[in-house]
Amino acid sequence: ITINPSQLQQTQLLLTPQQQHYLLRVLRLQDGDKFIAMDGMGKWWLTQLTGETGEILELLEVQTELPVSITLMMALPKGNSLDDVVRCCTELGVTCILPVLSDRTLLNPSPQKLERWRRIASEAAEQSERAFVPTILEPVAFSTAVTEYAANHRYICEARGDYPHLKKVLNNCSGEIIIAIGPEGGWTEKEIEMSIKAKFQPVSLGCRILRAVTAPIVALSLIAAACEV
Ligand code: SAM
Repeated sequence: ITINPSQLQQTQLLLTPQQQHYLLRVLRLQDGDKFIAMDGMGKWWLTQLTGETGEILELLEVQTELPVSITLMMALPKGNSLDDVVRCCTELGVTCILPVLSDRTLLNPSPQKLERWRRIASEAAEQSERAFVPTILEPVAFSTAVTEYAANHRYICEARGDYPHLKKVLNNCSGEIIIAIGPEGGWTEKEIEMSIKAKFQPVSLGCRILRAVTAPIVALSLIAAACEV
């Protein structure tokens, strides 16, 4: 389960009613059974269920993070499609997701959607045994995204044009990577020009045009494969 730091009192974990329900009714744990609690910020504890609380037994070492920080700049796709992107990219090791309003983005999402993406990221991080829950930032305009977010490696995926394949440019997997993926209708020429001015390198993900929700999964898989030892 993922806990809030305020739930931790010395070696005791004060469980919320929802967490008690999950542990006792869904997982059917009993007093004395052990479970893992994480804070989503790097700490994992082996914990023992004791009534309505958990007793911390041991701080665990978790090494499930990639050796590089990856920010996914994702032009908002239609409907609820970003849900799958958040879930899959969290499993693949993304550090941060920045939803972007681009020239061809249809809608500005409601604040409830942001809450939902954060919940999905937290659940996916638990399931993948991540040490950290990725940060899901508030949506920003494309121009803000490319000019205000810095990293030593910046790539923008473009389905058209003769650009190098992402796997060929990923030769130095340290520090920070930003990878930008466009909406269903693709990036406009103006956006590609703006990104190049902001030191983004346009890259290809292969000869086939991928759906906007498939492209980030391919990009994250390539980065994880290139960086993981
Ligand atoms: N109709 C758009 C076009 O022709 O450019 C296709 C957009 S695609 C559905 C959505 C986004 O996924 C693109 O903007 C790009 O960022 C990424 N993408 C999809 N296939 C790609 C590929 N083969 N190489 C690089 N990026 C790709």
